[in-house]
Amino acid sequence: MKEKLLQFLACPDCAGEINLAEVTEKDKAEILEGTLKCASCEKTFPVLRGIPRFADLSEIEQEKAETAKNFGWEWTHFAHEDERYEQQFLDWLQPVDKKFFAGKMVLEGGCGKGRHTQLAARWGAKEIVGIDLSVAVETAFAKTRNLPNAHIVQADIFRLPFKKVFDYAYSIGVLHHTPDPKQAFVSLASKVKSGGHISAWIYGAENNEWITRFVNPIRERFTSKINPPALLQLSKLPTLGVFLATKLIYKPLNKNAKNLAKHLFYNDYLNYISRFGWVEQHSIVFDHLVAPTAFYISRDEFETWWKEIQAEDAKITWHNQNSWRGFGKITNQKDER
Ligand SMILES: [Zn+2]
Repeated sequence: MKEKLLQFLACPDCAGEINLAEVTEKDKAEILEGTLKCASCEKTFPVLRGIPRFADLSEIEQEKAETAKNFGWEWTHFAHEDERYEQQFLDWLQPVDKKFFAGKMVLEGGCGKGRHTQLAARWGAKEIVGIDLSVAVETAFAKTRNLPNAHIVQADIFRLPFKKVFDYAYSIGVLHHTPDPKQAFVSLASKVKSGGHISAWIYGAENNEWITRFVNPIRERFTSKINPPALLQLSKLPTLGVFLATKLIYKPLNKNAKNLAKHLFYNDYLNYISRFGWVEQHSIVFDHLVAPTAFYISRDEFETWWKEIQAEDAKITWHNQNSWRGFGKITNQKDER
């Protein structure tokens, strides 16, 4: 944890000032071990292995803890890099581009292993703060500690330990895995200053009926309950099916016979992922099987989220015809803190 993060923190319980009560281990600019303390309610929060911990997994509800545990395992396992991540990230953030990050205070709701945190930092964010509930924060911290403008915090998106100081917040593929996606979005938006912006990308309900009908029951009853290392092995079988179909059918047909390809099942999405190699496709399949909670959200429902935060000029667009991305400006929110 870099000391400059302190000025942006607020107690998740009472919104009080957070001070550094004790430092027991430091490495140059990083506080590795120590204690943070709320000036108002005096609650303390540990800094462990360089990460301030505002979420105690033993205290949070079972469902959220399971999601954090399963994804945490996934993100520490799939710690590979992929140059396509950059384009993929921008696809999810459209119409936001790299330049948009320059000089902004940015909050990332659900950073996983810090893949996007690194990009935001490199694209010139003034400060980028990534939060996650899961142990993936360990990987995220390791990957970002050398970036002077990147910060990782272990926290619950419903109880964010920050002041309202951000110019931009985004959440990619995370909200639909929380018990209340809309509330998680509202919570994230509450930390953005008036005039700032927010982006979100979520699973769509439309065109995903086959997932909600066939994959979800398997996920809910079976795959999210078995231990992740075993699921990793098991998920190689459906991945093989996806891999062969995308490489042998979707990719060549979309290149050479567009008219035919558009009739293929789930063509936009499967053609999109046909560019990925085995490891990335395996992580996508695994992702769909590992989550204890996953909501598929309709456009109508997604629109109510933007109304709820009174976003101005909210732009909701279809991504690969199976998910929604939104971008809007935060205005007229009362400054809470
Ligand atoms: Zn407090």
